[in-house]
Amino acid sequence: MGKKAVEIANLDVGKLIEMLNAALAEEWLAYYQYWIGARVMEGPMRSEIEPELLLHATEELGHAELVVNRIIQLGGTPILNPSDWLKHAECAYETPNDPYVEAILKQNLTGERCAIQRYEGIARYTSGKDLVTYEMAITILNDELEHEHDIEDFLNDINRMREDLLKLKMD
Ligand code: FE
Ligand code: FE
Ligand code: MG
Repeated sequence: MGKKAVEIANLDVGKLIEMLNAALAEEWLAYYQYWIGARVMEGPMRSEIEPELLLHATEELGHAELVVNRIIQLGGTPILNPSDWLKHAECAYETPNDPYVEAILKQNLTGERCAIQRYEGIARYTSGKDLVTYEMAITILNDELEHEHDIEDFLNDINRMREDLLKLKMD
């Protein structure tokens, strides 16, 4: 562990490590949510949406890497067993039982909004007290905001398409 790393963090490091482990679990679950959702998905715009969801999956793994490195720097033990992911995560994992593209996107949107809250919380907790974790949280937060926006755009496009089709039917 980094002694100086802990010393310069002017807060309850144990509590911060708990928050970071929850974030770590959530990132792995988000990875799988995207990865499996992209594969079972069917419906309009699949060929466009699938690669974007797989890209998001990769980006979630990148977040997991940032978070695990920080946990170790702070002298914490990262979650060592996947069976602990669901115990630590506060963001739900939603089984993609309905493969319709819109249903998959809505599950991912819920996940992103939860992730935004997670990093907003870590940023607030570390603001002015642990600048390194703070910087990391802001970096990830920006990615999560972008993810949310991408998914909202897809959902809007699908809605728009549905409205146009309904109009055609009525004419
Ligand atoms: Fe993430
Ligand atoms: Fe995300
Ligand atoms: Mg994107």
